[in-house]
Parts: sequence; structure tokens; C-alpha cells
Amino acid sequence: MITLKQALQLSKEELTNFKEELRTKIEANKELNAYISVDDFGEGIPIALKDNIQVKEWSVTSGSNILQGYIAPYNATVVNKLLVAGLSPFGRTNMDEFAMGSTTESSFYGKTLNPHAPDRVPGGSSGGSAAAVGAGLAIAALGSDTGGSIRQPAAFCGIVGMKPTYGRVSRYGLGSYASSLDQIGPMTQNVEDAAILYDIISGSDEKDSTNAQLDDKVTPNLNSDRKLKIAVLPHYIENASEDVKNAYKLATEALKVAGHEIVEKELMDAKYDISAYYITATAEATTNLARYDGIRYGNRVEGKNLEDTFVQTRSQGFGDEVKRRILLGNFVLSSGYYEAYYVKAQKTRHLIKEEYERIFEDVDLILSPVAPSVAPKFGELANPIDMYLSDIYTISVNLAGLPALSLPIMKNSEGMPVGLQLIAKPYNEQTLFDGALSLEKEVNYN
Ligand code: GLN
Repeated sequence: MITLKQALQLSKEELTNFKEELRTKIEANKELNAYISVDDFGEGIPIALKDNIQVKEWSVTSGSNILQGYIAPYNATVVNKLLVAGLSPFGRTNMDEFAMGSTTESSFYGKTLNPHAPDRVPGGSSGGSAAAVGAGLAIAALGSDTGGSIRQPAAFCGIVGMKPTYGRVSRYGLGSYASSLDQIGPMTQNVEDAAILYDIISGSDEKDSTNAQLDDKVTPNLNSDRKLKIAVLPHYIENASEDVKNAYKLATEALKVAGHEIVEKELMDAKYDISAYYITATAEATTNLARYDGIRYGNRVEGKNLEDTFVQTRSQGFGDEVKRRILLGNFVLSSGYYEAYYVKAQKTRHLIKEEYERIFEDVDLILSPVAPSVAPKFGELANPIDMYLSDIYTISVNLAGLPALSLPIMKNSEGMPVGLQLIAKPYNEQTLFDGALSLEKEVNYN
């Protein structure tokens, strides 16, 4: 598959031919179920979009039954930014319902397969975007990351996935899951493409009040020769699989060879991350999903009266995982439990942020696993608690609002990709991309 950088050089005619081939290839790989649909917005370079990013007059469902029939009334800000740069939406990719999940199995449209092994999950929730890029069915894609949903599927499918600093990319037109954690980001074949796409979609937007209103760009200064101080976390990785530990060793050596200074640091026991995250995310999701009542959006199931219409619509429209989270979110926000759970989770979130600040006083980047193992087989994460625990290495980054990039390091003995992530200080995307480019060159995965 041509890279985004190469695609930017194509003539109009070459681009038209390319799109024809792309359609044929997507059709031939239909069983992967990476795309929900292959709508085409126009003449620009085709970029696949996760099905929670709005394109005017396109259907957008967030992978849910409750949004069947809903047509987006306006473009997400990232879509307008793509169009300005000569890129255009091409296809909606499969995802866990409302971005809740780590496997893409909770989609109304059925599961997506991992392009490296059809009996394994592609990761989630942006599993469709990751599978599309990993299988050569997209030049690049956009995903959203609330607790790892860009980085983890990227790692499982052998591609690059980047979550920007909270506030860097406008969330206007993104279907909300947990608004204080959600960020849209690039999913690409390599680090340079991720930087190009990040530069295109990031920047100020008055329509998003949490937007940082910063417009500095990474690519003009992209420099893999910069020497950086990078933290490794020996205790933090103890519970990871042998594959992940091997990748961690390999990457650490590669960074040393590339001339970076490696120092050992520690992060607080990550088991509190899971609790803080799942309390915060479900509380916010409960509030965000209250708007899907059958009156204002999408699918309606007529009941005996208005109250019954709400109940029938929501009971039939939402899947099990979404219902579980609405229940959990309402529980942690309810009177009597609010202080015990929600307030404590916010305090923990603050401690996690301070923990990162402490490490970043001394280093430029942190090297971390993305997931505890390679992509699991279907069914291995069937128990919700096991699934939540598998997010252990990604969610603290969202709780602290930091930028991070997942890139493939090696393949294990079964040919499954193992990815790792670099994490940077807030708004320090330049350092993140510089370090990632250097690591990518040194490990030479492709
Ligand atoms: N797996 C996590 C969850 O289910 C993260 C999802 C995401 O980042 N959207 O909440």
C-alpha cells in the first residue's frame, strides 16, 4: 500500500485509478469486516474514518443499533481539516459500540478479524481502522482513544497509532464516550505518516471549548537525530507476557544504539488506574448516552406511552456492554456512592497525573507496553473484568491527558505483531514523533 506521503504526490488521474483498485481490494477482503461501508466523499486522498466521526449527510452509528438511520447534519472539525488539506473521508470503519471495548466484538455490525490471524481480535475499540490499515485496505485512518482505543488496536494489527494531548484535536463532531478522556488521532503505516496526519487534524477550533487553541506543527521540524532522555519501567512491565518483555528489551537496546540516554523509573501500581478509569469513563458515558432516547436520534421503538418509548428504545437499541456501563455509571454517580467512588476516582486521577509529572521532571519520553500480550484469540476476553484489566497500560495516559504513540517493534514466533508506546509531556508531540521516528528506524519492523 502506498503511504500517505506518497499519496500526496499523486495526480488526479492516478488517485482515481488508485481508488478503483482500493475498492476492489476492500471487496476481496470483505470477510475481515474492517469497513461498515465504503462511502466516498470526493476527490481527495481517501482516509478511512471510525464510525463515530461525523461526515455531513453520511450515516454515522458509533457501531450501535440505536443510531441506525441517523444521518449526520454537519462535518466533524477533523473532517473539515482533512478536506482543506486535500484529503477526504472514504469509508466508515467498524468499532466497539460507542467505543466501549477492547476487541471490536461489541459492534452491532459483528466482529472484525485481525489481518494477521483470523482467529484473533484486531483490538478495540478502533479495530476496524486498525485492521483496514494493517491489511492494506486503507492508506491511513482516524480513530478515537478514550482509554487506548487507537494505540491498542494499532499494536495488535502491526501499525502506528497516536493519541494526541487532550485538547490538541477538536472533538466537535465526535460521538462522545467519556468527554474528559476522548481524543481523535491518526492510525497509519508509519511514524512519518502519523505526523503528517496529526498536523492536518490538530489545531485550534472555537467549536470545542476544551480545545487548546494551539497551531504549532510537527512535520517541519521532524528530526530523528535528536538525542533524548528516555525512561524505562522495569517493575511496571513485570506482569506483561514474554513477547511484550522481549519487545521491551529490543526497543530499549535500539534506543541506546540510536544514542538516547536510558534511565530506570517507576510508576505507581497500575491496578488503581483500572478503577479510576472505569469509574470516570462510565460516569461520563452515562451522561453522554442519556441523549439517545428514541426521540432526538436514530432508531425509535414505539411504546405504549412516552416513558415506555424511552424504555423500549434503549432496551432494544443498546447492546450488553453499553448497558453494563450505563448501570455502572449511574451507580457511581448516585447519592451515597458519589463520594465513595466518583470523588475518589478523581483524586486518584490527580495522583496519576502527578506521578507522570514527577518522572517527566527528569526525562523527555517514557517507553511503555501498550497491552499485556499480543492480540488475544476470540473469546479469550469474554469476561468483562478480564477485558477491563487488559487496558492496564493505556488508560493512565488518558487520565493524565498525555500524548502517546504506539508503534510495531517485532513479531512473535506465531507472526503476531508486538507494539510498544512512547509517552510524552503534554503538548510535546514534537518530541514524541522525533523519538518514535528514531525508534522506528532502529528496529526496522517493516
Ligand atoms: N477499552 C477501553 C474501554 O472500553 C478503552 C476504549 C476506548 O479508548 N475508546 O473503555
